[in-house]
Amino acid sequence: MKALVMTAKQQMEIEEREVPTPKDDEVLVETAYAGICGTDNALFNGLPGSADAVPPIVLGHENSGVVRAVGKNVKNFKEGDRVAVDPNIYCGKCHYCHIGLYEECENLSAVGVTRDGGLEQYFTAPEEVTYHVPDAISLKAACSMEPISCGVHTMHITEDIQPSMKALIIGDGYMAKLFAQLLRAYGIQDITMTGRHDDLLAQEKEQLNLTHVVNTTKEDIPGNYDFVIEAVGKPETQEQAVEHTNPGAQVFMFGVGAPGQTFSMNTYEIFKKQLTVKGSMINPHAFVDSIALLESGAVKVEPFQANVISLEEVEGVLDHSTPKTGKTIVAVNPNLK
Ligand SMILES: [Zn+2]
Ligand SMILES: [Zn+2]
Repeated sequence: MKALVMTAKQQMEIEEREVPTPKDDEVLVETAYAGICGTDNALFNGLPGSADAVPPIVLGHENSGVVRAVGKNVKNFKEGDRVAVDPNIYCGKCHYCHIGLYEECENLSAVGVTRDGGLEQYFTAPEEVTYHVPDAISLKAACSMEPISCGVHTMHITEDIQPSMKALIIGDGYMAKLFAQLLRAYGIQDITMTGRHDDLLAQEKEQLNLTHVVNTTKEDIPGNYDFVIEAVGKPETQEQAVEHTNPGAQVFMFGVGAPGQTFSMNTYEIFKKQLTVKGSMINPHAFVDSIALLESGAVKVEPFQANVISLEEVEGVLDHSTPKTGKTIVAVNPNLK
C-alpha cells in the first residue's frame, strides 16, 4: 500500500508498505478521506500537537473510511462498515482519566500523532475510538468528525447557554465556520465573526447567516459579547477576545498559540466582569454529538472543504509552497462510498 511518511521534521516521502494487521481489539480501515489542519502544520514543523509526533510517522488524525478487517475481540464492527475514527486514545488509568478530564490524560496516544494515521491507504485503530457513519453522512463529510468534535467539546464545557446571548467568533477559518454552526445548534442566535478579507467575510455572512462580520484590518470589533471564541491563536486576537466581553462572559481560547506565547489582560476587568477564560483542547466523548449534528444537517462541512488534494500534494500544503484557501482534505480513496 501507499503511505505518506513523515521521515523527519519538515520531510515527507511516499513509501510502499505492507498493509498493517489489526491487533485483537483493533479495526483495519481503508482510508477514504483525511483532513489536514493546523495541528499537522505544527507536527510537520517539529512542534507538539495534543502530543509529540516522533518520525517516522504517518500523520492524519481526521479520518474516514471503510473497515476491511477486524481483530478477534472486536464486537461492533465488521468488514464493509463505514467509519470515522476519533484519534484520541485515553489510558483510563491516570489521575486525569479518573477525574473525568480525559483530554489531559497523562498517557494520551493519538492516531496520526503518536501512531500511524490516515495519510496512507490503510491504518489501524482501536475499536473503542471507531464510530459508525450513518448513511446520511458522506465519507467526505465524515473526515471532519474530529474537528467538529473539537468544537462540540467547547460546547460541552460551556455553562448555561441562552438564546439571547451574543456571541463573537474571532477568526474565519474552518473551525470558526464550524463554531458559527455549533453556536446556533446549541441555541445562540446573534453571532458576529471577524476576519481580514471583505470578499470572504461577505460570503461567510451569507453562507452562515451571521449577524455581523467585521474586517479587523479596517475596523474595530463593535461592542461586547456574552460568549467569545478565539479561533486564531495570536496574542493580539487573544487580547481582543478578553477585551470584548460583557459581564459574566465566557471566553474560550481555542486557537493554538506557540508554546511559551503570552498576552496581556486587564485583571481588574476579569474581577469586575467575573469573566471565565477557558482553554478548549481536543474532543473527549464528542463524536456521538457530532454525528447527530451532521446527520440532522445542523452542521454542514462539505461547502467548506475547499481544497481537495492527493497524498502527493500534502507536503506542498504543509510547507506552504502550494497556495491554498479553505480547509484541505486528502482524497486517499474517493471511490469509497
Ligand atoms: Zn485536526
Ligand atoms: Zn489517562
